[in-house]
Amino acid sequence: MSKRDYYEILGVAKDASESEIKKAYRQMALKYHPDKNPGNHEAEEKFKEAAEAYEILRDPGKRKKYDQYGHAGLGGAAGAGGFSMSMDDIFSQFGDIFGDAFGGFGGFGGARQQRRRQVNKGSNIRIKVKLTLEDILHGVEKKIKVNKYISCTECDGTGAKGGSSYSACSTCHGTGTVTRISNTFLGQMQTSSTCPSCGGAGQVIINRCTACAGNGVVNGEEIISVKIPAGVEDGMQLSVSGKGNAGARGGIPGDLIILIEEQEHEYFERDGINLIYSAYISFIDAALGADIEIPTLEGKAKIKIGPGTQSGKVLRLKAKGLPSLNTYGQGDLLVNINVWTPRSLSKEEREILEKLKNSVNFSPSPTGSDRSFFHRMKEYIKN
Ligand SMILES: [Zn+2]
Ligand SMILES: [Zn+2]
Repeated sequence: MSKRDYYEILGVAKDASESEIKKAYRQMALKYHPDKNPGNHEAEEKFKEAAEAYEILRDPGKRKKYDQYGHAGLGGAAGAGGFSMSMDDIFSQFGDIFGDAFGGFGGFGGARQQRRRQVNKGSNIRIKVKLTLEDILHGVEKKIKVNKYISCTECDGTGAKGGSSYSACSTCHGTGTVTRISNTFLGQMQTSSTCPSCGGAGQVIINRCTACAGNGVVNGEEIISVKIPAGVEDGMQLSVSGKGNAGARGGIPGDLIILIEEQEHEYFERDGINLIYSAYISFIDAALGADIEIPTLEGKAKIKIGPGTQSGKVLRLKAKGLPSLNTYGQGDLLVNINVWTPRSLSKEEREILEKLKNSVNFSPSPTGSDRSFFHRMKEYIKN
């Protein structure tokens, strides 16, 4: 089957201008579009034919070759009549043809035009806040200075000088979105994206505010008071709604995201809601028993060490830990007892300890209680 003349297909003269060709193709594409002619094979052929004709004639180089050599001038397999297009190619061409002229694809069934105006949203700001365990115990209110975009006071954040100096955006015709149609294996897909000319606002400013260059926002700072609840943990995030960067041109502000960073404590390690404190006592206190003073998050506390306390014993002070964020519970303070061995001794101390050295009670028991086992072991090693 020999191919028809491209000019004839589009119904234009040989010397038709670019815009005449474009206009003719638009009409053909609308008339024979598969959505309008479901199941009509003839219409589909005409649709393809028109697309092909347009693809060649819109390109000055290809058009020149076609004018000189006809279909044979367009390459491709010999005798196949040169060039042909898939439906994919055809639909991807549509963005150029209809994008500006129709402001979307309202004309075709199944591809409804979306009238969705996008509101500018300011970006979120993330900020680290360092807290002590004392802050976390009761919760704390922090005043934070945040450098951010704030609404321009000159134009009330509109970006326009002297109130209403707007006009509808010519790129998207006030819709804020531009639409493209593409063919995928799932069928025809309409994709909408934010209009690049107006940023989705649907309108452009005629008279820009000079203070903010029409953005509606300027660099500034705000002191924000943030209430941090008791019991938070390192790495947690709190979101303060609407305290992020102001949105451009009257948009809505982003959020302020507070990232909790827990400062290391001089005395305590944290284990969930419990606190761990390592207490050091002399071996004399360990042997005789003693009252010792330990720190808590709220002042000092006294605890009793029983006589004969071993290193590694853990004492628990109820409800002296941290509050739980989710329940009403309160953690404990765990006191880990360590027996401190003196690093240096005076002459007298040494003499006293030498005397004690041979005392049976100063020999450690590996099992903690089975002294006879220890003696049996000694006998065993001796023999
Ligand atoms: Zn302004
Ligand atoms: Zn626009």
